[in-house]
Amino acid sequence: MSKFWSPFVKDLVPYVPGEQPKLSRLVKLNTNENPYGPSPRAIEAMQAAIGDELRLYPDPNGERLKQAVADYYGVSAAQVFVGNGSDEVLAHAFHGLFQHGRPLLFPDVTYSFYPVYCGLYGIDYQTVALDEQFQIEVDDYRRPNGGIIFPNPNAPTGRLLPLEAIERLLAANPDSVVLVDEAYVDFGGQSAIALVDRYPNLLVTQTLSKSRSLAGLRVGLAVGHPELIEALERIKNSFNSYPLDRIALAGAAAAFEDRAYFEQTCRRVIDSREALVASLAALGFEVLPSAANFVFARHAAHDAAQLAARLREQGVIVRHFRQPRIEQFLRITIGAPEQNQALLDALGAALA
Ligand SMILES: *Cc1c(COP(=O)(O)O)cnc(C)c1O
Repeated sequence: MSKFWSPFVKDLVPYVPGEQPKLSRLVKLNTNENPYGPSPRAIEAMQAAIGDELRLYPDPNGERLKQAVADYYGVSAAQVFVGNGSDEVLAHAFHGLFQHGRPLLFPDVTYSFYPVYCGLYGIDYQTVALDEQFQIEVDDYRRPNGGIIFPNPNAPTGRLLPLEAIERLLAANPDSVVLVDEAYVDFGGQSAIALVDRYPNLLVTQTLSKSRSLAGLRVGLAVGHPELIEALERIKNSFNSYPLDRIALAGAAAAFEDRAYFEQTCRRVIDSREALVASLAALGFEVLPSAANFVFARHAAHDAAQLAARLREQGVIVRHFRQPRIEQFLRITIGAPEQNQALLDALGAALA
């Protein structure tokens, strides 16, 4: 702490991202990256964007990317916002849509960035407990609130809330924004973007970091009623007019246009997940039903922190959260088949 800091900085509790190890030999199953590379068409578009034109500022409105997203989802470009990773899009949503003096509601077990943004923007919040099976119970959100946010599928549980339940939540909360964070929806969910034309209080965010394998590029988006999008644009244009550079805009648009590659790689991840779930169950793990590119699993006879440490000794990294209710779980990203096999081999040794 320094006398030069603005006073509120001393109370900030920043987000702690999963480890990005310097050693490349590790089997890295801790931050839900995609084992398959980005679309070759996206790589080509990014390579083409590297040249003399980099002396020029990018399109501040990211119009071509917004149109690619709009075309993909059958919405209008005025319903689309783009930002530097969905974490930035979420930050703008917290800032521009959740500061109403009533508490924001989110699950007790969820993405740990939400309380961080509440701290940053001075938003009061209440957590709502997941049920015994770690599912969101939408009727528990019937209480005064200044907004509701949750990932679907939820993180780190992987559990999916069906669209009918989301629709009930939207109908029960017509006076607050319901933000559905769809970072993992492409691995087994149905997007709530299908509901945006009917619910002006719905904002859906997505990222190109997971299903489109571009975590290193930093691109995220939101889809919702043009009035919600307008709030995000106002915040963005009061903060950074050019959050996406020319390379990111070109790569992200091309990634959205290459549907065949996207569908094929998502399918491979889903197939690997189903195989991994069966193998983990055979090793004695309880695995929560997952619609994401990770699984959340606990072993009846082995401590999760110890297992994570033993895996690490064998060069396999997974995520463990020291947090009430979930301290006996491991969150394991779905890797390529050989990575998943390396995990199973290391687990076999760790359990022996
Ligand atoms: C990964 C993730 C994000 C952030 O994605 P970026 O676009 O890489 O910032 C947002 N929400 C959840 C639930 C995530 O898991």
